[in-house]
Amino acid sequence: MSIPAEQYAQIFKSNNAPIEYKKVPVPKPGPDEVLVNVKYTGVCHTDLHAWKGDWPLAIKPNLIGGHEGAGVVVAVGELVEDVKVGDHAGIKWLNGSCGHCEFCMASDEPLCEKALLSGYTVDGTFQQYAIGKAAHVARIPKGLPLDAVAPILCAGVTVYKALKESQAHAGQTVAIVGAGGGLGSLAVQYAKAMGFRVIAVDSGSEKQDMCLNTLGAEEFVDFAKDDVVAKVKSVTGGLGAHAVILLAVSEKPFQQAAEYCRSRGSVVCVGLPANARISAEVFSLVLRMVNIKGSYVGNRLDTQEAIDFFARGLIKAPFKVGKLSELTQVFKLMEENKIAGRYVLDTSK
Ligand code: NAD
Ligand code: ZN
Repeated sequence: MSIPAEQYAQIFKSNNAPIEYKKVPVPKPGPDEVLVNVKYTGVCHTDLHAWKGDWPLAIKPNLIGGHEGAGVVVAVGELVEDVKVGDHAGIKWLNGSCGHCEFCMASDEPLCEKALLSGYTVDGTFQQYAIGKAAHVARIPKGLPLDAVAPILCAGVTVYKALKESQAHAGQTVAIVGAGGGLGSLAVQYAKAMGFRVIAVDSGSEKQDMCLNTLGAEEFVDFAKDDVVAKVKSVTGGLGAHAVILLAVSEKPFQQAAEYCRSRGSVVCVGLPANARISAEVFSLVLRMVNIKGSYVGNRLDTQEAIDFFARGLIKAPFKVGKLSELTQVFKLMEENKIAGRYVLDTSK
């Protein structure tokens, strides 16, 4: 396979500096790495947080962001045995982990303190050729569309894992907060595929229509118009949702969720708004045995399971396709909460 010497990439020189779309050298894989010709990359709100410097974790200087890259393996390092040139593979948030800490040994690799994060501490997928550790690249069965599968690599895995962490059972009701966004639209689909009933919380008629008529939520609560706590309670017979999955990029829902979570239910925090805190009234939390927890991407098995749901045709969330060169415009739309579903970028343009 012929690999060019140069390629296009989107470079974050530093937080909030104009993003530079320019030619850079194609990287070479190390002994335990693979080089993936990224065909499509999703744009996750995490990429926007990285560029803005929202979190108490520094980005790599001159970072190439992105961590939902689906493409074709074009080169493998000499120690790589199970990934071959020509395979379809995905570069996801967890680019690599140490493999021998107590978390890695327990298959909890997202918790590895030495984890390499694609598009954050190492270069990611806003480029045509990206590097991943062979042990961690997602195995994508041939025949799956690389544009539609790209968002599964972060958004899909993350929401699937969060729904598992909620410990809700089939037939129970899950409130998805931020349901109209990238993670949210996939969360509604995974929740349905897992047998849950869905209350979608977001805002605006486009997202309402998508959640109710395309994704299959049973109720829509508009956070800009409705009293969210009262409405979720009223559509659940006064008891609240069995689980609340918080995907929103704003602090307010993190302050409200415990109030409309059913007794013995779980509030699962996934969204990462800047400088946010979560709070709940202790008295009610204790007497109602509400569980508040965090959930962070998923491990390699969660990734393969999430891809398998997609491969079986159970996950169909809307996405728009743009060009790699349009990243700055996509970030602007995302900042304004104007994207219903996910934006996926074609790296050939
Ligand atoms: P997105 O911008 O596509 O979607 C966010 C949605 O939240 C939008 O539809 C917006 O309208 C909605 N929203 C805003 N305020 C709200 C409110 N008060 N109530 C309900 N909805 C509200 O973002 P995304 O790509 O889906 O990412 C969501 C968050 O998840 C980001 O903070 C991202 O960094 C985080 N994330 C976490 C993990 C993890 O492992 N925990 C993984 C991926 C992304
Ligand atoms: Zn992400």
